[in-house]
Amino acid sequence: MTLNSNPTPNPGDVFRPEPDSGCLMCSEIEAGHSDVTTGRHIADLTASRLLLAANQYVSGMCMLISNAHATELHHLPPTAAGGYFNDLLLSSAAVEEAFRPHKLNWEVLGNWTPHIHGFIKPRYRDDPIPDNRIPHDVPWVTVDEQEMDRRVELVRTALFAALDRDPRRLQLDVVLDPREDDRHRG
Ligand SMILES: [Zn+2]
Repeated sequence: MTLNSNPTPNPGDVFRPEPDSGCLMCSEIEAGHSDVTTGRHIADLTASRLLLAANQYVSGMCMLISNAHATELHHLPPTAAGGYFNDLLLSSAAVEEAFRPHKLNWEVLGNWTPHIHGFIKPRYRDDPIPDNRIPHDVPWVTVDEQEMDRRVELVRTALFAALDRDPRRLQLDVVLDPREDDRHRG
């Protein structure tokens, strides 16, 4: 199992309508890996694309963009919604492993860009506001290219490790069919 800049997960029957030409997140899904504008490409997962967010106000903040254009998660067909959550579980575990935060926050808003995209925000005891949510209008913090590369590789390495331990984590049936999970365990 490999996971790189062009992985080939099993997409099943993931819902993927034609992109909305006016939507920033649709553009990010359709863009080449080096052409995304809101962060740095980490991986394409079953139902989403994982980026290291351009704003590194908290170190390791990532964004998980749904492949499918939908404004609310419950608007997706169940398989696509399950796929997105499966990707969230995998991505969150990788971010936790990569950055060893005190806590993870996950936030989905979409008021400005109504296409499902969640932020995975590692929280540290010494971050600027450790006891509160991070507001959306925090100062923009960028790091240099070398440090962005290092952070991307940390997350990718953790994704590799998680998939090496359990490659089924890229498969939708793990989430959607617990009987299948039982058969694997047995
Ligand atoms: Zn969209």
